[in-house]
Amino acid sequence: MYRIPFDRVNWITSSFLIVTALTALIGVPWHLVVHGIDAFQVAMFLFYLTATMLSLTVGYHRLFSHLSFKARRPVRVFTLVFGACAFENSCLDWASDHRRHHKHVDHDEDPYDISKGFLWAHIGWLIFKLNPEPPMDNVNDLRKDPLVMWQHRYVHWIGFFVGLVIPAAAGGWWNHLHGMDPRVGALGGFLIAGIARIVVAQHLTFFINSLCHTLGRQPYSSEHSARDSAIMAVLTFGEGYHNYHHEFQHDYRNGVKAWQWDPSKWTIWLLSKIGLASGLRRVPDGRILLAEMREARAQAERRLAGLSAVGESGPSVSGGTLHDRVRQLGVICDELEQAVRDRVELSRSTLERWRGETRSLLRELRSVSTGGLTT
Ligand SMILES: [Zn+2]
Ligand SMILES: [Zn+2]
Repeated sequence: MYRIPFDRVNWITSSFLIVTALTALIGVPWHLVVHGIDAFQVAMFLFYLTATMLSLTVGYHRLFSHLSFKARRPVRVFTLVFGACAFENSCLDWASDHRRHHKHVDHDEDPYDISKGFLWAHIGWLIFKLNPEPPMDNVNDLRKDPLVMWQHRYVHWIGFFVGLVIPAAAGGWWNHLHGMDPRVGALGGFLIAGIARIVVAQHLTFFINSLCHTLGRQPYSSEHSARDSAIMAVLTFGEGYHNYHHEFQHDYRNGVKAWQWDPSKWTIWLLSKIGLASGLRRVPDGRILLAEMREARAQAERRLAGLSAVGESGPSVSGGTLHDRVRQLGVICDELEQAVRDRVELSRSTLERWRGETRSLLRELRSVSTGGLTT
């Protein structure tokens, strides 16, 4: 029978998660019913949620864990201070776990391995410490950054002061200025921009480890569990294009297409325009398309193998049989592979045409899968 390993519970983390969640679920609604909420409290909640989330996505994740761009001191200080307010541990700890997640995704050494189940990847890995803590030997570059080490040393104090004391003080000050009870304003700031915001930000980021490895498509690779989902991108400030991210982890973009929702990418781009960020790393378009083509080809070949296993010949689709279309895709895929290897610059129109052919094959594959065969 399945046994809950109570002897391996991380009590400090678990107590924090339970107490903050209960306060957000009971204390916040109670406060809203008894005292209501004003525009200042709403604005402070939105500011703190945005600052915390962007500090995790732009700072902890894309800047410090993946070195996908370089940032000037004000950006590093801001993201380290507001990152601490998420109470997701120090940037050094976070980056170490995250780099292991990428290196060992879906395997035992992956700290939030989705193959151990949705709840494990979401929160179980924080509550239970099943294995001894691995050595943090993959963040030696970050140890050389005095700001990262300062935050590592004082992370809980920074989080407590900036993430809880300041919202409470600001709420009290606002009420005092407007002739209202400052104690009510202080309690509101503590509960709403403080505790409720911590709980929301934590679960939105935990979703990246759970739902982003469960929901959505795999346009770049099905060799790992990460998935692309527009809904998740909206919830996670752009981190929902997780299949792309696991394929190209050093790209500062997660939503690489122009229409994809990625506020973290836009923030980094804006910072580069005002001189606060530089060295933005981008994967060339040819390499991205090559990954899409290889994946489309692999999916089509799996589908064809499935069809022949049940005795069906390749179905007809627009422009020939599915066999023919997969063969055509194979030819341009090999051509693109050679061009990428030789670093040949392909024209935008060639890339567009090949992208179009890849998409139309995928559409036809989907129609074959849902039974829409033209035989
Ligand atoms: Zn992941
Ligand atoms: Zn990552």
